[in-house]
Amino acid sequence: MSYAKVLCVGLVGVAGHVVEVEADLAPGLPAVVISGLPDTALHEARDRVRAAVVNSGQRWPNRRITLNLLPATMPKFGSAFDLAIAVALLGGSGELPLLALDRVVVLGELGLDGTVRPVRGVLPMVAAAARAGLERVIVPADNAAEAAVVPGIRVRAVDTLHRLVEFVRDGTPLIEPPALAPSHGPDGPDLADVAGQALGRRALEVAAAGGHHLALFGPPGAGKTMLAERLPSILPELDDEAALEVTALHSIAGLLPAGGRLLRRPPFQAPHHTATVASLVGGGSGLARPGAVSLAHRGVLFLDEAPEFGRGSLEALRQPLEHGRVLLARSRGGTEYPARTQLVLAANPCPCAKPAGDIHCECSPLARRRYLGRLSGPLLDRIDVQVTLPPLRAAELMEATMAEEPSAAVAARVAAARRAGAERWAGTGCRVNAEVPGPRLRRPPWRLPERDTRELRGRLDSGSLSARGFDRIIRMAWTVADLDGRDRPHSDDVREAIQLRTGDAA
Ligand SMILES: [Zn+2]
Repeated sequence: MSYAKVLCVGLVGVAGHVVEVEADLAPGLPAVVISGLPDTALHEARDRVRAAVVNSGQRWPNRRITLNLLPATMPKFGSAFDLAIAVALLGGSGELPLLALDRVVVLGELGLDGTVRPVRGVLPMVAAAARAGLERVIVPADNAAEAAVVPGIRVRAVDTLHRLVEFVRDGTPLIEPPALAPSHGPDGPDLADVAGQALGRRALEVAAAGGHHLALFGPPGAGKTMLAERLPSILPELDDEAALEVTALHSIAGLLPAGGRLLRRPPFQAPHHTATVASLVGGGSGLARPGAVSLAHRGVLFLDEAPEFGRGSLEALRQPLEHGRVLLARSRGGTEYPARTQLVLAANPCPCAKPAGDIHCECSPLARRRYLGRLSGPLLDRIDVQVTLPPLRAAELMEATMAEEPSAAVAARVAAARRAGAERWAGTGCRVNAEVPGPRLRRPPWRLPERDTRELRGRLDSGSLSARGFDRIIRMAWTVADLDGRDRPHSDDVREAIQLRTGDAA
């Protein structure tokens, strides 16, 4: 026999597709030809596979070898095809009957010495195999725990090509995946640790309940970062679909914690302001790495000291925030990753980062305006909740020895509010108030009566509020009403929403 076929999986974005690796060996000058749109890593695979086969004690077939990866039209990235290529060509050479690999997906990168190395993205690859109705998969030993997270598929692991060859030839058992780690990871920081800061806590709760982006302004030490880090602790857990999607993105980035489990908590990403554009939105050669904005998918993206981010970085975040996904340009077609994230940004009121009104601050009003002006346009326009936190006073810190409300209590209110919102917008494609288009809220049956919006219309007429700002305040008023258990917002809710937008009491 001079032909063999082994199954593998390739990734297009987060979606996996089963790939057939065919090997055909013909008489003629010894050569290896790979077809099926391979990227450079696949060409390197040729050299890795040859060394691994020889160093595993197998005979390299000195014939004309044609390797074909199907479907040919699908772009293929990365090194996960190595192991499948090696066994396909050993099968094709007649050295190894491949009956034991019938309908088995084989994943793994080969080292020159024949060891099997872990690959990124094993979880979405195995999930794709399961979806395709396949029941068995062989993965690198270091990826076994991660692969075992996928239900409905039998996972076995290998550490060397030699072990896989022994299994195929004699049925020598493969490595069993480790038992799954308990599904509950370490808890993140809790709101109980945040002293005082009633306005900040309320802004965080409203942002969580309505899915609103949030901007926290204020002097250093006001607690902006502490609050932002605790947003995930009051958001609902991810449902099965979201958990799989989020875990898949972290798998592709090679960032899954050891032990293997689905990520159930909304992720939190806080890139530094010196982060490269690629680390923010994704990129890199081979299988593109998701950036912070995709690793924060279904969770929180926190930009601390936001005005310090370069213009290019802020600009690069605009498209993902608008569309909920990132399109990375590749040499062969684009790679798309989801990026539906809740943005939280924090900023000091001035570039010297001294408390507002501090006698040592010499920043002119113009310098201050310019500093925050860096955020306008691309980002600030999309942010519903914008509050300025006062400096923390000693009295508040003292009072804080008394118990502050823990995250669990706030999370319960947030969950109830989200249920109310989801029920109201059922069938419209919106899950949270922040996603509801402005015009829908201005039309019956959702339009608020005049007596409740008088103050707001006054601001619109006087030009102190833009039409977009008007819509954002109405949206937040619905969230405030949801949190307080009212069917519709009253004038008090609108007033609080104005405060959460403009920072001043109405
Ligand atoms: Zn200053």
